[in-house]
Amino acid sequence: MSNFLASVNQNFDKAAIHTGLPKGLLEQIKICNSVYQIHFPIKVGNEYKVIEAYRVQHSHHRLPTKGGIRFSQKVNQDEVMALATLMTYKCAIVDVPFGGAKGGVKISPREYTPAQLQKITRRYTAELIRKNFIGPGIDVPAPDYGTGAREMAWILDTYMQFKGGEIDAAGCVTGKPVTQHGIRGRSEATGRGVYYGVREAVSYKDDMKKLGLTTGLEGKTVAIQGLGNVGYHSASIFQKEGGAKIISVAEYEGAIYSEDGIDIDALMKHRKETGSIMDFPGAQNMDQRKKVLEVECDILIPAALENQIRNDNVDRVKAKIIAEAANGPVTAEAAEKLIKRGVMIIPDMYINAGGVTVSYFEWLKNLSHMRFGRMEKRFNHNTYMNLVNLVERLTGKTIGAKEREFLTKGADEVDLVRSGLEETMITAYQEIREIKKRKKKVEDLRTAAFISALNKISSDYLALGIFP
Ligand code: GLU
Repeated sequence: MSNFLASVNQNFDKAAIHTGLPKGLLEQIKICNSVYQIHFPIKVGNEYKVIEAYRVQHSHHRLPTKGGIRFSQKVNQDEVMALATLMTYKCAIVDVPFGGAKGGVKISPREYTPAQLQKITRRYTAELIRKNFIGPGIDVPAPDYGTGAREMAWILDTYMQFKGGEIDAAGCVTGKPVTQHGIRGRSEATGRGVYYGVREAVSYKDDMKKLGLTTGLEGKTVAIQGLGNVGYHSASIFQKEGGAKIISVAEYEGAIYSEDGIDIDALMKHRKETGSIMDFPGAQNMDQRKKVLEVECDILIPAALENQIRNDNVDRVKAKIIAEAANGPVTAEAAEKLIKRGVMIIPDMYINAGGVTVSYFEWLKNLSHMRFGRMEKRFNHNTYMNLVNLVERLTGKTIGAKEREFLTKGADEVDLVRSGLEETMITAYQEIREIKKRKKKVEDLRTAAFISALNKISSDYLALGIFP
């Protein structure tokens, strides 16, 4: 068993003892229900390459199953199983009515042309269709490390070629481009969810006091590992909306540091122009990219891959709060040490659930065949206009044009998506925090999050009367 899956299951066991649930039921929840391993050939130039790929459905207690597809050279069965497992708990924590799943294709996307990647994605999709491992009511993939909206469009198009007559076909995959049945706000969703979640976590005076911090994000120092979809949007929103100071950033090519803060948009521009985040004006280059994890800061956001904070570097980690934007960035062993030191770990299966939450909204949009806000936006706008007009008439005063615009705006799709996400992240955090407070022996948020997930999942099984 890989360390990753073992680590996830170790955390599960730690929480399970607090639930009082029957052993058989816990075993059923813990195990991966279906593992599909695929090999298929792809012609690259004059030769054939055999591609190894997976789709794992961890839990069928709710359908469809849901989870991203990863393109990475490091993909292996245990990793995909661990990621699928995390998806089940993640969905339960944020009340997204899906079982967990994950897919993986063992390739390094950098080594292929877009045309070759398209061929691989389409063939992978065809294999999933063949085995009934994809469909709006069966299993719904989404982007993950190494994939994005482009790949999702290819998946949908392939699905349509086989199942064109299905009325809900567009709901077979989420994270699609907005023009291809996607939803506004999906690409930023995981990063925005990280922001809402951390903002909520730092809003409690007694919790912050224990960490020696004040409440609020304004002025807090932040270090971020990874500037991909999750890391970039987290960094940008923390900076623009939260007023946080990003002091260190790491990417594939290295890491940089600046005590005065790094302007994320300027950094992205610099990276586009030079091909690297290194030598960014006003920042120092760090000698190793992993050093970002050891920076003295209030909040550390590992937003890359699993197994980043481990036994061999955990003692050098100085952050007071770790927000696990990636899946599994802190090993179970390292987490134990951090918890003992009083570090607050906001766990992956809660803090990065913004992606799947907005995927759920996208899926609902696809099933309803209508954009959110289409019915009520104009109606609300007209109602607010009447109200503002009435206030003006009754007071004899005029409301300025800008203010009027702000007060009378009807919500469109992106406003509703953001508000639904904000509500989801706040409510879930409050649930987890409440469990931690109530159960005196629970000392960390991950265990509390697991308990929240286990309570919800077990009630589905218990309702069936299978486990007395
Ligand atoms: N890959 C993302 C995750 O790990 C999103 C999954 C989804 O939207 O289904 O949560």
